[in-house]
Amino acid sequence: MIEKIINIIPQKLACFVEKHLKKIPYVQNKVNKEIDGVMKDLETSLKPYKDTFQSNTCLPKTPLEKDDILNQILEMNTREEDKWKKGYASGAVYHGNQEHIEFLNQVYAATSQMNPLHSDLWPSASKFEAEIIAMTATMLSSKKTDDPICGTVTSGGTESILLAMKTYRDFARAKKNIKKPELIVPVTAHAAFDKACQYFNIKMQHIRVNEYFQADISRVKKAVNKNTIAIVGSAPSFPHGTIDPIEEMSAIALEHNIGFHTDACLGGFVLPFAEKLGFDVPVFDFRLKGVTSMSADTHKYGYAAKGTSVIMYRGEELRHFQYYTATDWPGGLYFSPTFAGSRPGALSAACWASLLSIGEKGYLTATQKIMDTANKIRQEICDIPELYILGKPLWVIAFASKKLNIYRVLDEMSQKGWSLNGLHKPSCVHIAITLLHTREGVCQRFIDDLKQAVEKVKMTRDTKKGMAPVYGMAATLPARGIVSDILKKYLDIYYKAK
Ligand SMILES: *Cc1c(COP(=O)(O)O)cnc(C)c1O
Repeated sequence: MIEKIINIIPQKLACFVEKHLKKIPYVQNKVNKEIDGVMKDLETSLKPYKDTFQSNTCLPKTPLEKDDILNQILEMNTREEDKWKKGYASGAVYHGNQEHIEFLNQVYAATSQMNPLHSDLWPSASKFEAEIIAMTATMLSSKKTDDPICGTVTSGGTESILLAMKTYRDFARAKKNIKKPELIVPVTAHAAFDKACQYFNIKMQHIRVNEYFQADISRVKKAVNKNTIAIVGSAPSFPHGTIDPIEEMSAIALEHNIGFHTDACLGGFVLPFAEKLGFDVPVFDFRLKGVTSMSADTHKYGYAAKGTSVIMYRGEELRHFQYYTATDWPGGLYFSPTFAGSRPGALSAACWASLLSIGEKGYLTATQKIMDTANKIRQEICDIPELYILGKPLWVIAFASKKLNIYRVLDEMSQKGWSLNGLHKPSCVHIAITLLHTREGVCQRFIDDLKQAVEKVKMTRDTKKGMAPVYGMAATLPARGIVSDILKKYLDIYYKAK
C-alpha cells in the first residue's frame, strides 16, 4: 500500500506542478522558446527537399510528365537509400539484398490491383494469406499442440497487437461479463499495447522489470484480478532485446483462465531458427499451453516488404472476436477480418513469396549470420570500459554508460552517419542487428565508429547542439505533457506540405 502511494505521488505532483507552472507567463514563454528552437532543427531535417523540388498543394492543372514524376522519386530515393544500404540503420530494413528486393517488387508489380476484400475476383489472395498464417503458425508451435492455431494477416505489428487486445476485451465481455477490462503489461512491452488500451478503453497495469529487463513475475502474480483479460510478454522486447519469462507468465494466465499474448513481432522469425541452431532460447510460443495469442512480423525478420504481420490465436473461437460483420447495412452483407476494409493484396502476395523464396534453410543461414555479428558487437561493446550492455540480449543490443552522457555518444554516431535508436528509462542506445550489418566491413565500422564516438565525448564538453539535450530533457522532464506536446508538434510538421 505504502509503495503504491509513493509510486503515485511523484506522477501526480508533476502533473499538478506542470499544469500550474505553465500558466505563469514567464515560464510559458521560456518553455515555448526552447520548444520553438528544437522544432526549427527538426523541421530542417524533416524537409530537406523544400528548395530542390516544387511543393504541390493542389492538383496540377495539366498532368505532369510521367518521366518527370519518376525522376523526382528516383532522385529522392537515391539520396535516401545510401544510408540503409550501407548498414547505417538499426532495424528499419531487415534484408536489403538487391536481388531479394527486386523479386518482391516483381511480385508486387504483378498483383498491385489485388484486394482481398473481393475474394471472388482474387481467390489467390485467400491462398496467399491462409498459407502465410499456416507457415508462421507451424514455425511457432512445431505442431506440438493439439489446439488448431489460426490467425489473420495484418498491416504490421501494431495492428496485430491492437486486434489481439480488442479480441481479448470483447471475448471477456461476452464470456465473462467483464465490463472494466484490465491488461497486465511489462513496462518494456511495445507502446502498441498502451495504444490499444487508449483506443479500446482498457486499463493498463504496468509491471516493472528486473535487473535483466524481464518482467517481474511476482508483480505479475499480484496484479491479476477479476477484471484481468490478458497478460503480455515480449520475445524479445523492442528496447533491450530481452525475452520475458514467458513460461512462468503464461502459466499464471493459464491458472487464472485468462489470455496470454506473446509479442514476437521482433523475434518470431529469428528465435525458432536460433533455437534450431543451438542458441539458448527459452520456449516462448504455442508449445506453452498458456500462450493463447502471438504476433510475428513478416515485414521485419520475415524479410517481406513493409506492410504485413501475422496475428495468431489458439483456437478459432478467439479469432471470431476479432472479426467484424455487418448484416443490416444497405451496402450489403459486409464482413472484414481486420481494421481495414480494402487491403493491399499485393503485400500479402509479396509476403508469401518472401517466405517461400527464403525457406527454412534461408532463415537458418540468416539467423546464424545475425547471431554471429551480434556476438562480435556485444563482445566489442563489453571491451569499451565506458559502456555496458543492458540485460542479456541476443541480437537487439542496448548499451548505456555510467560515466558519459550516452545521448552525446548517440549524437556522435549520428554525425558519422549512423541511425541508432535513443531509448530512455533508463537512458541508453540500441542497435537491432539486421542482415545488412552482417556484410563485409559493416560490423567493424560500427565498432571503430563507436570507439571514436566514446573518445570524442570523453574529450569534449557538453554543448547545447544536437539531439542530446533534447533526449536528456525528454528523459528527465517530469512534465510529460510538455514532451507529449512536442511530439504532436513534430507530427504537425510531418504533414506540412509547404
Ligand atoms: C516492431 C515491434 C512492434 C510493432 O510493430 P510495427 O510493425 O512497427 O507496428 C511490436 N512489438 C515489438 C517487440 C516490435 O519490435
